[in-house]
Amino acid sequence: MKIIGIEIIPVRLPLTEPFVISYGTFPDVESALVRIETDSGHTGWGEATPDPHVTGETFGGVVETLKVIAPALLGRDPHDRTAAMRAVDARCGGAPTAKAALDIALHDVLGRITGLPVWALLGGRARDHLTISRVVSMKAPDAMAADAMRHVAAGFRTVKLKVGDFNNPRQDVQRVAAVREALGPETRIKIDVNQGWRTSGVAIAAARAMAAYEPEYIEQPVDWRDLEGLADVRRACGLPIMADEALHDARDALRAVQLRACDLINIKLMKSGGLLGALALNAIAETAGIVCQVGTMVESSIASAAGLHLALALDNVHTVEMGGPLMLAEDIGPLRNHYNRDRVTVPSGPGLGFEPDEAVIARFAGQRTWIRA
Ligand SMILES: [Mg+2]
Repeated sequence: MKIIGIEIIPVRLPLTEPFVISYGTFPDVESALVRIETDSGHTGWGEATPDPHVTGETFGGVVETLKVIAPALLGRDPHDRTAAMRAVDARCGGAPTAKAALDIALHDVLGRITGLPVWALLGGRARDHLTISRVVSMKAPDAMAADAMRHVAAGFRTVKLKVGDFNNPRQDVQRVAAVREALGPETRIKIDVNQGWRTSGVAIAAARAMAAYEPEYIEQPVDWRDLEGLADVRRACGLPIMADEALHDARDALRAVQLRACDLINIKLMKSGGLLGALALNAIAETAGIVCQVGTMVESSIASAAGLHLALALDNVHTVEMGGPLMLAEDIGPLRNHYNRDRVTVPSGPGLGFEPDEAVIARFAGQRTWIRA
């Protein structure tokens, strides 16, 4: 069995409301879809949703990178995923988001060939369903409290607050205080700084001031390059620290373990280069006693489904944030139907478990690139 064609389709999907975090405001999701075709007539879908602030890959850049690396899959048997991804790696260093699209598509097509859901290819179920938290964009404190109340009323038991104002960290503390006051003691609150406090000095002071509001953890308080600073914050602030932007792959995880830089790791397929890279990363984390979360760049149904299959399969994954399908005004798959309040069931059909909506994808047909043997 051989891969005989790969199609690259850049799409732009509107969000229900702009997503606001410390480094930007995003009105829509830019995503490069990938479709793999085999000589047996099977197809598999993948998705690259770049965040230039995290991996340095832009929307246009990911499309161009895919044109360079995707031909490495031509003629390969999709059963041999590791060898296929090694061939992809040999064409281009880095570029984990572009590679994630190919890795996801390989898993989807192999699942369809074998009749197995992706979670079964990854080791089987560690649990029977997932519980997710809902993200609250960075706004004025009272507006964030109102958004958080809305999410709790919709059935979410954990909210994640986006903060990270380097010039006014005191207002970040007010944001957390306002949300805690509005929600009471029962709802869990997670804090994501998205590097916004930049330095460990600012981060330690801000995190200590937030401790009274009992956050579950503080995510990525300092610049992504500063793992030593992250370790300083962890030692000084007394709250669990999660690494996100600072940690992309297994190699980064090894360094974080050596530096004792974090208590938790946010795995994202767009950072790890896909599912195989995520398995390697998780193996290091789990061995070192570091718990993982499966997070997202705000992805459509395809990459979100891949993340959900991963989260279902890994015993070491304790929290899940695959909320992309809930934030999209238009999606290319039906994943939203698998969300009920904060509970998500993972599709159980072969591969990712659903067929993308060809009618939505057809709107972007003009931008398609075909790569054929
Ligand atoms: Mg984050």
